[in-house]
This record gives sequence, C-alpha cells and structure tokens, in this order.
Amino acid sequence: DKGCGMAQLLNEFDCERTLKNGTYWMPFTANRRVKEHPASRIITSAKGAYYYTAEGKPLFDTLSGLWCTPLGHGHPRIVEALKTQAETLDYCTAFQMANPVTVRLAERIAGMAPNGLDHVFFANSGSEAVDTALKIALGYHRLRGEGGRFRMIGRERGYHGVGFGGMSVGGIVPNRKMFANGMMNGVDHLRHTYDSAHMAFSKGQPAWGGEYAEDLERLIGLHDASTIAAVIVEPVQGSTGVLVPPVGYLQRLREICTKHGILLIFDEVITGFGRMGDNFASQRFNVKPDMITFAKAVTNGIVPMGGVIVSSDIYDTFMTGPKNAVEFAHGYTYSGHPLAAAVGHAVLDIMEEESLISRARSLEIILEEAIHSLADLEGIKDIRNIGLTAAIDLVPASDAPGARGLPLFELGLKNGLLLRCTGDTVSFGPPFISTTEQLQDMVETVRRLIVSVTQ
Ligand code: PMP
Repeated sequence: DKGCGMAQLLNEFDCERTLKNGTYWMPFTANRRVKEHPASRIITSAKGAYYYTAEGKPLFDTLSGLWCTPLGHGHPRIVEALKTQAETLDYCTAFQMANPVTVRLAERIAGMAPNGLDHVFFANSGSEAVDTALKIALGYHRLRGEGGRFRMIGRERGYHGVGFGGMSVGGIVPNRKMFANGMMNGVDHLRHTYDSAHMAFSKGQPAWGGEYAEDLERLIGLHDASTIAAVIVEPVQGSTGVLVPPVGYLQRLREICTKHGILLIFDEVITGFGRMGDNFASQRFNVKPDMITFAKAVTNGIVPMGGVIVSSDIYDTFMTGPKNAVEFAHGYTYSGHPLAAAVGHAVLDIMEEESLISRARSLEIILEEAIHSLADLEGIKDIRNIGLTAAIDLVPASDAPGARGLPLFELGLKNGLLLRCTGDTVSFGPPFISTTEQLQDMVETVRRLIVSVTQ
C-alpha cells in the first residue's frame, strides 16, 4: 500500500481547525456551538450499531443514523454489492434509458407495498420524494380535467423535507418562518393529533383522538374539495418526536379523502422498510394511501435514494396522453441510480434472509418496556413508542423551554450514546440488528443522563 488513498489525504489534515473556521457549514446544526468543542463532533468510522470517534470511542447509534441505517454500519454484503455495481455499471443516463438493477428494484419495492400501489418513481432523498409526490398529485388532477385542485393539505408538526414543496406542507415552525415568503401557494394544515392531557405515557397508538381526522372536513368546508389536490401526512410523525396516530385517525382520513376525490399521500420516509415492524406503516395501520414516499432505509443510508410508490389509477392517468410525449416532465439526473439500486437489493436481501422486519417487531416490545420504565423520573413529561421508535419529552426548564436537548446530547457523547435531541425531546430509532441488551443498556444510560441534566 503506497498510501495513496483517503488515509494519506487526511494524514496531516486538521479537521478540528477547519471545523472551527467554518469552511464546512453543517446542516441543521448549531454551528457556533460545534466550533466551541469540535473534537467531540468528529466521527471517523462505524461498524454495526456503533460509530467510532477520532479517539476510537464507540457511540451507540440510537437513531440508526438519521433513521436510515437499520442494518447497522459496514455490512460486508452491502459493501460488496456497491463495489461490484460500480465496476459493472456505475451510472446510467436516467432519461429514456433503463438498467435491469433499477427496474428489478422497482418491482421488488412495489411487491412489498400494499396491493394496488404498483409503480415506483425514483428520486434521491426524502425531500425529492415528497416534491415528486406533490407534483404527481397536481399532474393527476389536471390530466383528469380537474386542474382547479391545486391545494395541498399538510399537518402541524409534520416534516416532509426541505424542498419548497416539503417545507410548505411541513408544519415545523422554525423550519418555516425564515422562508415564509417562499411558501408554495394554497397550502393549509390539519391540526396535529398530540394532546398530552389524554395521551401522555401511552404505549403504541393512543385510544383517544381518532376524531382529530374530522379537522379535514373543516378544511374541506373552508376551501371546497374542488380546490384540494392531496393530503400528505407521516403515518407516525417522526422528526417532531414520534407522534403516534390515535386509533382510527388514519382510517378516517382515508375515508374523507376518498369521499371528496382528494389523494392521500403517506410520507413513509422514516416508517418505510420495516421501522413499524411491517414493510410499510400503511400495512401496520391497515390503511391504503394513493402514494407512499420512501427514502432512508431502502439503501440503509449508504448511498442516497428516495422515491414514490404510486397507485395504478394515478399511473394509468398519466399514460393516457399523446403517445410520443413525455408523460411527466419531472425527474433527476440520479433518479434510480444503479449504485443505489444495487445497494437497495442487498438491503432487501439481508432484511429477508435475516427476517429483520420481524426482528424489529420483537424488539418493539423490549424497547417499549425499557423506555416506559423511565416513567417515574421527575424530569420526564411524556414517553411514547411504536414500532422500533420511541421518544421522551423532558420537563422544560422554566426559564428556557426547548433547551433541554442540547446538554443531553452533549452528555450522551461523553457517555457512549449518539442521541437525537430536538428541543426538549429525545427520539430513538435503534438499528434492527440491536440486541436486547444494547437496548436495555441504552435506556439505562439515558436514565442516568436525564437525572443529571434535569436535576
Ligand atoms: N419526510 C420525512 C417523513 C422525513 O422524516 C424526512 C427526513 N427526516 C424527509 C421527508 C426528508 O428526507 P431527506 O432528508 O432525505 O430529504
């Protein structure tokens, strides 16, 4: 080895210094805070359920990356698939040409989705998947002679990525307020379904609150159904701290959409590919949307990929125009990238062969029990869980609401946990390959850290 690789390149590189000077502007990050302690924020390798810092310290990956690495890091079969594909077909022009690896992945993904969702359009991220789905909804209605349906209905506290479409239907105030002048036209929001008075410390779906779906009738009354194209919701709101749909809520949204000719989009960027203990949350909750957006776990986070699974009714509608014309003037240079597709196959193979989705289902019970055992801690306001996800709301500091998370996160780094803390909430989505012991240890460490930050 002549050392011509990355190791050589980084040999004399002072990562801390460059982080300090801000050349690298970090996404969704308090950059100035990083500059104060850059050394603690550098990860140099990862294997299985752990990251390793520059000092070789392991950090348990409590959120599977950003909900995207359920099989853990550095899986040799995935590495091999990536390498082989790079040697065979590293890129294929995405427009007018296809490659068998990607075509077959579309077939496999459609095969995992609820019946009737039979067509897959690829993008490269969750944000792109969402914007693609919104554009499909607009095109669908226009092709059916209902071009007046232009409104999109999102939901308070929803997260649908950061494109202009996803930001507009999203309902997280800090993500919106700086860009208020750039919002998409005609978007409205359902109220969110969280009510701590009725739901605090519930396990799985809250029994109360299904009637929140009637809020859609209110918006239809306000705007008229003839102006509404689609409703988009995450079946479980992930980014705002695992807000679980009350029993009956999603079913009722489905009924109302069907009654009024409105498309229902489930954003399954987090919940797709096993996180809910089923292929998709649509199956867990037994509600069939018209479109499902996916990303993240489909490639185990190793290379970017996203996409939309579309009903036959929608697809067929697009296929009715002039035969030689492009039916949908949309797509990305890297739509259906062969490297991502090859990784997707490896991921699905491993999930199938190692029954990792049923493993996620059995780990759900372990995580539920462990995390709810924290309920008696004084510093905790709520604990929720479903699938292999959970969240804890800390009692906010009286003088600084939303400020509990960052110290908890930083303490986690010192105690072997990479935590996902936002505001006063800490969310969990551990890898499907986690052991019972790892999950129990994670929760016991969290217990200690919470006591220490809330005292
Ligand atoms: N939709 C949902 C439900 C998500 O959770 C996310 C990412 N957390 C996105 C969209 C955006 O995905 P990306 O960051 O890949 O653009």
